[in-house]
Amino acid sequence: MVDRNRNLFGKKTYLITILRETAKGVSGGVSFIGTFGGIIGSILVISSAIIFVDLSAQKFLLLILAGLIGNIIDSILGVLIQAQYKCTECNTIVELNNHCNLKTNLVRGFELINNDIVNFLSVLILCSLYYISIV
Ligand SMILES: [Zn+2]
Repeated sequence: MVDRNRNLFGKKTYLITILRETAKGVSGGVSFIGTFGGIIGSILVISSAIIFVDLSAQKFLLLILAGLIGNIIDSILGVLIQAQYKCTECNTIVELNNHCNLKTNLVRGFELINNDIVNFLSVLILCSLYYISIV
């Protein structure tokens, strides 16, 4: 039987706000390997920028930290405001208002807030924090 709370590497996923186990793929669900993957992703993106801009080691590390903070903000917003629906047919929690060709029921968050809005807000908050820190 497949454990819905374990990721590809067999590790558990936890809801970031209450650190309780949750199903993999759920918005706000975090795991060590997912967080590590996010850091590796940040390093790859920032490394590609080195071709175009001169980055000090301090700024390089600061940008990796910013990527980590952005991931955390994204996860928290995913739990607190992103719309989550329950399929009336298969009882799966999904991010869409339609599943199994049926309309799903809103169980958490706000209908207008989807994953794209959460991503946009995360970047907006992170940039605002950065702006506030340099002013
Ligand atoms: Zn379904």
